[in-house]
Amino acid sequence: MTILEELKRGKVLLSDGAWGTLLQAKGMKPGECPELWNITRRNDVLEIAQSYLQAGSDIIETNSFGGSRIKLSQYGLGNRAGEINEASASISREAAGISRHVAGSVGPTGKMLLMGDVAEAELYDGFCEQSIALEKGGADIIIIETMSALDEASLAVKAARENTKCTVIITMSFSKDSKGEYFTMMGVSPSEMVISMKEAGAHIVGSNCGNGIEEMIGIVRAIRAIDNKIPVMIQPNAGTPEFIEGKTVYRESPGIMASFVPELIKAGTNIIGGCCGTTPEHIREMARVMGR
Ligand SMILES: [Zn+2]
Repeated sequence: MTILEELKRGKVLLSDGAWGTLLQAKGMKPGECPELWNITRRNDVLEIAQSYLQAGSDIIETNSFGGSRIKLSQYGLGNRAGEINEASASISREAAGISRHVAGSVGPTGKMLLMGDVAEAELYDGFCEQSIALEKGGADIIIIETMSALDEASLAVKAARENTKCTVIITMSFSKDSKGEYFTMMGVSPSEMVISMKEAGAHIVGSNCGNGIEEMIGIVRAIRAIDNKIPVMIQPNAGTPEFIEGKTVYRESPGIMASFVPELIKAGTNIIGGCCGTTPEHIREMARVMGR
């Protein structure tokens, strides 16, 4: 069954949590390319995927958030983008088997079209290459996440829709302004996201990162105010980041985070997972609250 068919039956699905923290726990050093671990430390990456599935995730993402050719070029690995993305999806598929979903993660390139950092065609081609490789490795979903610019997000959605059979999810990162309204770093509101991303062909929209779970409830309401049909996916951080001894830490406990899950679902969320600072324990607690 595709994820859209499952959602149509009214089921709320559970995604996974953060990968970066778990990679660091397995010894990844600052400055290392996380995505290269799909090749050099395959088993460690597999164990991370398995830990989320054991915690109850219906959907497991892939270790490919920074896997675009543009991002990988910063490590001199641009020409290995295909191989690295395919490997990331094959690892998650090995962990998921056929019964659960693999969502190939696509993050921002860090280049701004608006600033003339990059040409539209280069950006689009890079997203095509990445989504094709993720599908080839076994992804049935492409998830474009942590986006803040509509133009880049649209190109990524179109690339995935035009070149794969995958279900396409797009989630952007918002923060609340002094009037209590939500905007991305590039000034995009939740309703502008919904309109543009549906037009680009997205099947599912939502938000990840930038906020803890409590703030996400307002974002879901803003999305639902203009669209009560499109499935919504939310992946909050484990609370607001705190800066301690030069490190960013997220300290919201699994219990506190999970306690907001019923309200998040009531607001109209269809898929819940976690972003920065969340662990398999957070996912396990959410599963428990959801009556799994
Ligand atoms: Zn995050």
